[in-house]
Amino acid sequence: MEAQSSLKLWFDQNKRDLPFRNKPSAYKIWVSEVMLQQTRVAAMLPLYNQFLLSFPDMETLSRADETEVLEHWRGLGYYSRARNLHKACQIVTSRYNGRFPESLDEALEIPGVGPYTARAILSMAYGKKYAVLDGNVKRVISRLFTESDEKKWQNLADSFLNQEHPGDHNQAMMELGALVCLPKPLCAKCPIQKFCKAYTENSIEQYPPGKLEKTKLTLDLHFFMIKRKDKILLIKDSSRRFFKNLFTLPYLIENATIPAKDAKNYMNPSYMNEIISNIQSESIPGSSSHSITHHKIKLFLHKTLKDLPENFQALYGFETKWVEMDRLEREFPSSIAKKILKFLPQNGLFQE
Ligand code: SF4
Repeated sequence: MEAQSSLKLWFDQNKRDLPFRNKPSAYKIWVSEVMLQQTRVAAMLPLYNQFLLSFPDMETLSRADETEVLEHWRGLGYYSRARNLHKACQIVTSRYNGRFPESLDEALEIPGVGPYTARAILSMAYGKKYAVLDGNVKRVISRLFTESDEKKWQNLADSFLNQEHPGDHNQAMMELGALVCLPKPLCAKCPIQKFCKAYTENSIEQYPPGKLEKTKLTLDLHFFMIKRKDKILLIKDSSRRFFKNLFTLPYLIENATIPAKDAKNYMNPSYMNEIISNIQSESIPGSSSHSITHHKIKLFLHKTLKDLPENFQALYGFETKWVEMDRLEREFPSSIAKKILKFLPQNGLFQE
């Protein structure tokens, strides 16, 4: 049996039963792929199911309010991806009558849809002959062909594609990388072992060529509840390292272990220094841990003791909004918000 058939047989017998694999539509695959870019399957499934319940098709999602979409994204992080997905659905709805385009060129013109996502959707939903290349597939391809040059992996993946079942083949390759061809591979269980050059040559540890593990950066994030007439300030500041496109409580970064060359990305903006020097604040007991990509973060919450004056100049030029306390979680839709709001005292925040 040739390699592709062995792989397909193995996949048919071993595939995980995942909701986006049942009657896969372009839309379902699209949502699942965007979610999987940032989360493991097990963690993403409940959120995916809930998302599909609320937005069962492209049209419903494109008509939805952005705040509602972001709320359904809570727990996944990377809100820009939710925002892009939402906007992209609106484009597909108006430009292609709600049907994801079938050509690779057109698919790649959709904002937020890169080569991997386009190839995944086209092969799985429409049976188009495009091989995908995600992190897992790269590892398999590199070992299968003993090829260290990353630039050659896409062509090799294309040449290895099962022409009759491109969608299943792509999923099988990803599944093989996720379950068998792991960084420490389980070659004894591998359905394509006898076709694998690295296995045959006993050179598996050389492939893929080692990449430097990203070092974890540690830092503290101090969020500030800044009030004016019983409302709390949120700010959107796209120049900052975190929450670029999201309204957040204003925050300070402290104790950051950042290489000097990246330090400017983590600098605190001058309006934060202005706020701190203008308004006394006190910390609210409690701290929590959080991770964003390769950042290990400790979270703290503070409240200011008097109102920010109406004529406060330092915020000029930024998007700001004032929201009521009970709207905070909705208006700052991040899992970080959920964590820090737990520090709030039961008897209200600003009672004397
Ligand atoms: S034989 Fe081993 S190294 Fe080769 S593809 Fe299979 S699991 Fe990966």
